[in-house]
Amino acid sequence: MRASEVSRVGIVGAGTMGSGIAHVFAVAGVEVRLVDVAPDVLDRARASIERNLARQVRRDRISAGEAEAALERIATERSLTALEDAEVVVEAASEDPTLKFRLFEELAAVVSPETLLASNTSSISITRIASHAGDPKRVIGMHFMNPVPVMRLVEVIRGLETSDDTADLTLGLCERLSKTAVLANDYPGFVANRILMPMINEAVYCLLEGVAEAEAVDTVMKLGMNHPMGPLALADLIGLDTCLAIMRVLHAELGDSKYRPCPLLAKYVAAGRLGRKTGRGFYDYTSA
Ligand code: NAD
Repeated sequence: MRASEVSRVGIVGAGTMGSGIAHVFAVAGVEVRLVDVAPDVLDRARASIERNLARQVRRDRISAGEAEAALERIATERSLTALEDAEVVVEAASEDPTLKFRLFEELAAVVSPETLLASNTSSISITRIASHAGDPKRVIGMHFMNPVPVMRLVEVIRGLETSDDTADLTLGLCERLSKTAVLANDYPGFVANRILMPMINEAVYCLLEGVAEAEAVDTVMKLGMNHPMGPLALADLIGLDTCLAIMRVLHAELGDSKYRPCPLLAKYVAAGRLGRKTGRGFYDYTSA
C-alpha cells in the first residue's frame, strides 16, 4: 500500500499526543478513529482538536471549511474493536512498557495482518513492542513531537524485524502529513529523548539542589542557549509523568547511574503535579 492510498487510521490514546496525531491525519484527509479508555479524555481531546484547528484557521494555515471537514473525519471510540478495518494504527497510550505490550497483543488480534502498527513511544524498544504484535515486520516507531500540529519532525525507528515495506509506508505517511522524517536506530530514548530528557532531569536537579529558581533555570537556557523554551516549562508541556517514565526506561535499559530520575521529579508526579495537563507542574497554569 502507498501512503496516498491510506484512508482509515486508528489512534490509540487520546491524550496530549494522540489528539495531536488525530488532528494532523484528519487535516491530511484521512478518516480517524481515536480510542481511549477514559471518556472524559475523549471529550477533552475533541475540544482541544477543535481549538487547535480554529487557531490554524486564524493563522491562515487552513480554511474554515477544511477545519470543519477535518473535525468531521474524527470519530472517538472506547474500544480497540473499532479499529478492525484500520489500514494504519498509531499507538499513543501512556509511556508504560507493560501497557504497550498488552495493547499490541490486543491490536494484533483485532486488525488485519496487513495493518501497519506504529508506536509513538518516546523511549521503549520498538523491537520489544514488535515481539508482542504477532508479526513484527509491520511494527515501527513513529515518534511525533509535541505539539504535533506545529512540530515538523517525526523520528522514525525501525525495530530489528521491521520490513522495508513498513518503513517505506511510514516515510510516505510522514511526507503526506508534511512532516520531516529522520531515521533513528532502536536504542532507549532513540535520539530525541536520549539527549533531551537527561537535560530536563538535570534542570530538575538544579531546582532540587537550589542552584536557581525555576524561572532562572529556564531563563538561562532560553537567553543563554537560545532554546525557545526553558527545560522546566518544556517538561510541563510534555507531562512530568511522561518525563519520569522516559528517565526510568533510560536508567533501566542503559544501566548507567547518570540516567537516575531526579527524586523531585518523582515527588511531583506522586503529588499529581503532572504539568499543563493537570494545571500544575513546575509552574501554575490554573489561572491561564
Ligand atoms: P497522556 O498521558 O497525555 O495520554 C495517554 C493516554 O493514554 C491517556 O489519555 C490514557 O487514558 C490513554 N490510555 C491508557 N491506557 C489505555 C488503553 N488501554 N487504551 C487506550 N488508551 C489508553 O500521554 P501523552 O503525552 O499523550 O503520551 C502518549 C505517548 O506519546 C507516550 O508513549 C509518550 O512517551 C509519547 N510521547 C509524548 C510526548 C509528549 O510531549 N507528551 C512527545 C512524544 C511522544
